[in-house]
Amino acid sequence: MPPKLERFVSPGKGNGLRAAVRVKRGELVYCAPPLACCVSNKVSRDVCHHCFSRRETLLRCSQCKMARYCNITCQKQAWSGHKRECKCLQSLLPRIPTDSVRLAARLLFALVCFSLLMKDPKMLYTLEEHESHLSSMSEHKKQGMAQLASMLELYLQQEVPYPAQEVMSALPPSLREPFSLIAKMTCNCFTISDGELQEIGVGLYPSLSLLNHDCRPNCVMVFVGTKLQLRAVRDINPEEELTISYIETLSLTEDRQRQLEDQYHFTCRCQHCDSQDKDRLMLSGHESTWRLLKEALPRLEGLKTESDWQALLEGCSHLLSTVVGDVPDENLYKLRITDMAVDASIHLGHWEEAVGYGEKTLPVYRQYYPDPHPVHGVQLMRVGKLQHYLEHIEDALDTFKQAYQIIKLTHGDDHPMTSDLRIKMEECRSEMVQQSSSSH
Ligand SMILES: [Zn+2]
Ligand SMILES: [Zn+2]
Ligand SMILES: [Zn+2]
Repeated sequence: MPPKLERFVSPGKGNGLRAAVRVKRGELVYCAPPLACCVSNKVSRDVCHHCFSRRETLLRCSQCKMARYCNITCQKQAWSGHKRECKCLQSLLPRIPTDSVRLAARLLFALVCFSLLMKDPKMLYTLEEHESHLSSMSEHKKQGMAQLASMLELYLQQEVPYPAQEVMSALPPSLREPFSLIAKMTCNCFTISDGELQEIGVGLYPSLSLLNHDCRPNCVMVFVGTKLQLRAVRDINPEEELTISYIETLSLTEDRQRQLEDQYHFTCRCQHCDSQDKDRLMLSGHESTWRLLKEALPRLEGLKTESDWQALLEGCSHLLSTVVGDVPDENLYKLRITDMAVDASIHLGHWEEAVGYGEKTLPVYRQYYPDPHPVHGVQLMRVGKLQHYLEHIEDALDTFKQAYQIIKLTHGDDHPMTSDLRIKMEECRSEMVQQSSSSH
């Protein structure tokens, strides 16, 4: 199959990718395994380090005590990539290096050990020319990078000198030198997420690092295990630039721009930023009242991080009942707090409350996500499952249908989430038949 995308120079943005052919909404544009990836430290006990499945029980690598696997098969398949890492991990115990240090090391091992250099030299050029934004980085950030770089050196000591020193020295200086390698890594890696959009790892997909950002992108990225799939969420013409969003788009223009400048070192000039079209809606209602919500957010987020669900739910429901008529559901701060109330009620098993809050968010999500978006699909699925559990079967079927319309475009027809939704809809339909036959 000829590639559907090609490199080009995007006016004002440098390198970019554009459509080589006409692409339909929902179409798979590109699919790639990572060049290197690793499970995030924070979920490293819950996810298989080979296939990235979430499991209740996992086998633990008896040597580093860090890597975990579904079974012997996953462990065996992971070994060639884990062998060197395992020694390095052992050398630092009980300390565990950060995700970016582990990822950088895995990249070096992959380049050196699998002679990827020889197999695909073109890919290396792409890596070599990736931005590291060193010139626009703050001193503070540079210091952080320098610390990571010395951590990387320390971490690699076990395996340096490499058995393949000559191959190593064949690497371009910017990849050989820990500081610039780490800098590249942090600007160009992608967060790998699971079906529920929770972060499970980080990975490098060199050819897709060229994708530029837009606050209303025409593509989205979804993962199947560690494989990245890029899909169109709108019809795209040949030569039109392909874009993704680097950040969560549901926030104010000012906040999105600040985040993009801090993390990715550029000023977004997309159409969505220019028109600031949703900002007014996000700040609707009496300002003096929604300020209360805005100011309460950091404290509530703290409770969420601490998993203090009882206090979180009390905090949210108290605030929401205070502002009830003064701030419409579309208000961004109200939406965030309502979402936290859903989370907290689910954790506490207060299903009726969870479904009540969840249903309130759905019309708002619909307004803020005009294009199919995984976040919107997952929210619908979450609410649908609650409705189903509470035997609100007709509501559940309706919500699952809406979720399906989105997920089949963002995740594709054969993604496990899409099949899961088909099963859920079927269950609802047959339960409705049973109900109507038993009532006669
Ligand atoms: Zn596995
Ligand atoms: Zn190990
Ligand atoms: Zn923008």
